[in-house]
Amino acid sequence: MRFFFPDSQDQVDPHFDFLTEEHHVHRIRQRDDRYAHEVLTERPFDGLLISKAIVDGIGKGTGHYNNSARGRLYREQARRFFRLHEEHADVVIMGDCGAFSYVAEDDPPVTPADLINFYRQTELDWGVSPDHIVFGFVRAGADADADDVAEWERRIDITVNNAAEFLDLHARENCQFEPIAVAHGWSAESYARSVERLQTLGYQRIAMGGMVPLRTVDILAALKEVSGVKQPGVDLHLLGVTRPDEMQTFASLGVTSFDSTSPFRQAFKDATDNYYAPDTTYVAVKVPQVDGNAALKRRISSGVVDQRAAQTGERTCLDLLRRYDRDEANCEDVLDALHDYSELAGLKPRHEEYRRTLGDRPWKSCRCGICETVGIEVIIFRGSERNKRRGFHNLAVFRQWIAALGFRSMRPTPDGARA
Ligand SMILES: [Zn+2]
Repeated sequence: MRFFFPDSQDQVDPHFDFLTEEHHVHRIRQRDDRYAHEVLTERPFDGLLISKAIVDGIGKGTGHYNNSARGRLYREQARRFFRLHEEHADVVIMGDCGAFSYVAEDDPPVTPADLINFYRQTELDWGVSPDHIVFGFVRAGADADADDVAEWERRIDITVNNAAEFLDLHARENCQFEPIAVAHGWSAESYARSVERLQTLGYQRIAMGGMVPLRTVDILAALKEVSGVKQPGVDLHLLGVTRPDEMQTFASLGVTSFDSTSPFRQAFKDATDNYYAPDTTYVAVKVPQVDGNAALKRRISSGVVDQRAAQTGERTCLDLLRRYDRDEANCEDVLDALHDYSELAGLKPRHEEYRRTLGDRPWKSCRCGICETVGIEVIIFRGSERNKRRGFHNLAVFRQWIAALGFRSMRPTPDGARA
């Protein structure tokens, strides 16, 4: 089971100064900042997923890359750009169009030829043909609205027709990357029909799309139906689906790879599961920046909060947290300071949750490569340097979770990178 991490230009600055909150003066992000695989002791993924929507922007959407980073990616190609050569040369670099960015449009604003060019110019290993997401799922025996079904079937046809054209161009232009098509569906049975059509075209690897919002039971129903028609040797990839508890079942139904941003994003998007540990998760401790937090700035400018008091509260919290990490401060004193500052900042008090996080000190026993280096800073919910480090740490723990399920080696076979 290979785990792909979707790229969104997520890097950390190895020289960031946590005390002054400053970056090095001459820092150039793409060159000096580090990817997850460069700061963690063990690389947390088997593959990287890059998306044309994020690099170039598609249709009305603008990309995340600035001009210089984009120029560099095309100039150096993906493997050099992401520094996935040498000991990381076995990482599979996969590309897709980022169909979610145009889900609201009638037709995909990207053609098979556009994507072929993108994959060739960046020299990817796997390339996904342009799809159009179907958002809807009807369980067996339930009624479906005829207009909805017509629209869903139209999108499935667009996706399959694109896949046919994509494979044609792939052969005609003698492309080296492995072509992948996306199966969409609005029921278990229609997913299976998509897979059958894509197999008939000649695809050996099929990505299951549109499953992100589905309930686990529906994903399983669709995969079971698909496994009934899947030809031997055809591999399935789950786009954006993370269900560690179901990984073994997914594998038994023909899934050999998946991608997910959840472990990373939960570090700073989730309400509670911010820091992963081998057998549990913890809430991260919020100490917002007086200068960088929009809500806190509003409270100050409207006179609800005194700026000096806020600055003192912020400094006291950080200082006590660091002293606590060195066993020089008592947990209750830290919790009191956090309580006072949370009130000023308009945050909900989380005394008990913070007591659990601080009391257990999970960062002390973690050997991910980040926790040993930055200590308690990793568990402070504040600014991107801390939040992304916690996201990287989560990727490392996520990899252990998957390994503990019996997928001991997630690394591809030696010839797998370009299989
Ligand atoms: Zn860690």
